[in-house]
Amino acid sequence: CQYCHEKIVGSILSSGKKFYHPRHFLCGGCNCPLNGKPFFEIEDQPYCVTCYNDQHGVKCAFCNEFITGEYITVLNKNWHPDHLRCCECNEPINSVIEEKDGKIYCHKDYQRLFGICCNKCNEPILSGGYITALDKPWHVDCFVCNICNKPFTESGFFEIDGFPYCEKHYEIASQCNFCKTKIVDNKKIKVGDLFYHPNHVFCTCCKKAIS
Ligand SMILES: [Zn+2]
Ligand SMILES: [Zn+2]
Ligand SMILES: [Zn+2]
Ligand SMILES: [Zn+2]
Ligand SMILES: [Zn+2]
Ligand SMILES: [Zn+2]
Ligand SMILES: [Zn+2]
Ligand SMILES: [Zn+2]
Repeated sequence: CQYCHEKIVGSILSSGKKFYHPRHFLCGGCNCPLNGKPFFEIEDQPYCVTCYNDQHGVKCAFCNEFITGEYITVLNKNWHPDHLRCCECNEPINSVIEEKDGKIYCHKDYQRLFGICCNKCNEPILSGGYITALDKPWHVDCFVCNICNKPFTESGFFEIDGFPYCEKHYEIASQCNFCKTKIVDNKKIKVGDLFYHPNHVFCTCCKKAIS
């Protein structure tokens, strides 16, 4: 027996490569009897769960309980996988973990708050491809003609006020929808997807100019 150094006759308990009388199978920390109880081994020495946790246990930063299974380490703290939550939406984070200023975010909220947003739909651009055009980021599916929402062909796109237009709709969008002449200076009024000279916006009902 590792404890009393007497020969063991009868039942033997072991921890690592060391053997004990069952009554001498004691916790290396608090000396409580461990016969029949759960224990942990540290360098062949058995320890009760409490003593083991005190020295080697991993506590969850959210619930303050010891973690027995898997855990995640973020910001030098350990977390139950279910207890690592986004500080914005409070949902458990199961994919990409983002950190900023000591706070933890899910990928979606991080992108929404700090990431890049699509110039058309204003939604965050998550992982995956995007297009940088007209000095702005766009979802691949969002970089389309501002009027017909169709992607551009070989003829390319034309810009009005930072938005792309196909050739056909550029013609329409760059002229006044009332007088059908080109709007040359930047003084134009946008109504829906169409443009007007400032003095060519009329109410459909009473035909009066709207200023
Ligand atoms: Zn003994
Ligand atoms: Zn103990
Ligand atoms: Zn926890
Ligand atoms: Zn979130
Ligand atoms: Zn978009
Ligand atoms: Zn178009
Ligand atoms: Zn006009
Ligand atoms: Zn009117």
